[in-house]
Amino acid sequence: MLPQTIIAKKRDGLALSRNEIEQFIAGVVSGEFADYQAAALLMAVVLKGMSIEETTWLTDAMMRSGRVVELPEISQPKVDKHSTGGVGDKISLILAPLAAACGLCVPMMSGRGLGHTGGTLDKLEAIPGFSVDLSDTAYRRQLQEIHLAMIGQSADMVPADRKLYALRDVTATVESIPLICASILSKKLAEGIDALVLDVKCGNGAFMKNGAQARELAEALVAISRGIGKPTTALITSMEQPLGRAVGNSLEVIEAIECLQGRGPADLMEVTYALTAEMLVLAGVCESPAAAQTRMEDAITDGRAWQTFRDLVQAQGGDVAAIEATERLPQAAHLMELCYQDPDPAYIAKLDALAVGEAARLLGAGRANLASAIDLAVGFVFVRKLGDPVQPGDVVVAIHYNDAAKLAAAREHLLTGIKYSFQPPELTPLIIDRLA
Ligand code: URA
Repeated sequence: MLPQTIIAKKRDGLALSRNEIEQFIAGVVSGEFADYQAAALLMAVVLKGMSIEETTWLTDAMMRSGRVVELPEISQPKVDKHSTGGVGDKISLILAPLAAACGLCVPMMSGRGLGHTGGTLDKLEAIPGFSVDLSDTAYRRQLQEIHLAMIGQSADMVPADRKLYALRDVTATVESIPLICASILSKKLAEGIDALVLDVKCGNGAFMKNGAQARELAEALVAISRGIGKPTTALITSMEQPLGRAVGNSLEVIEAIECLQGRGPADLMEVTYALTAEMLVLAGVCESPAAAQTRMEDAITDGRAWQTFRDLVQAQGGDVAAIEATERLPQAAHLMELCYQDPDPAYIAKLDALAVGEAARLLGAGRANLASAIDLAVGFVFVRKLGDPVQPGDVVVAIHYNDAAKLAAAREHLLTGIKYSFQPPELTPLIIDRLA
């Protein structure tokens, strides 16, 4: 079938068959579909949509466009978590060792940060020596030995997404629920997992800005992943303010270590526990969220979760001494404290996650495009968070910086995202909804 016939069918709002979708993906990967034809079909999907059935076929075809990992040698349930991306979201660094310490195997493949959101691979690379590229043999050996690996996806996996995502990025075709679902799930389901838990972020700092959009995405992700045969649940979680206190790669590693050692901030631990419990219950390792909570708290208290993280760092070439004495992690040269300066006591009424994420990028912690270099040491530590009272002179946020010009731009932008009120603001729940 000619590419233009498939494009015309979607342009006219008709459903594509499984065979047409498979031909499209095969054509994209082989080059038989020219980029302009692929982009035309992407735009037709943005405008006319795709049913859950079509999106499931698209996801499956994209997943099978490259190597699909199989891990039959692993006896533990293999479960992963995917987040749609947020600010200060270092949950993977805590959840993955915690879940492994509680009896799961976590073969986690992650991405890099882009725009105002951070990426797990960048955070891990703040640990000197840590390699996110493992050979297939080393990866499998590590999963057998410590039931945990955290790596980037290898070039032979899901080539269709690499090509389509690059086209979507430059043709204004990223914002489409079917295309987002197929992109996310084709990558996650190629990891060889038995089950998946999704964290769909909702709010100003997230991809999905409101509850209705987040729910639509979460429902589609769960339906498609289940349609491909993987038990899946999703939590919709708030991304109105940064998660935890730290934003910036090295600073987030330090905060994750504090969490694994039982000293984590309440908001970050609440979402981490909720997602890890979903994984443990979905895999049948725990009977209920309450049983999972006890198991997770035990793994933190008796040091097993922290030990699993140490094992991970050692196995992937990282400097264990640097996570034991975190002053050895990349450190910014300068610190500037931003204080509350009005004469009357007040409350933090807004700590806008999008403004914080963009300010972190201006400071050098994030990248504008995948080729930009990042500064692993810089970022923010919020001493006060949404709803906290402030007195005149109180430090609200500590800015760790290396470059004065970047500090000036970041500070100015950050200030646009912080607002005060004389009444305590109404706080919305962190976990907004659950889809199963
Ligand atoms: N993340 C992805 O991996 N793909 C998308 O399309 C959007 C977010």
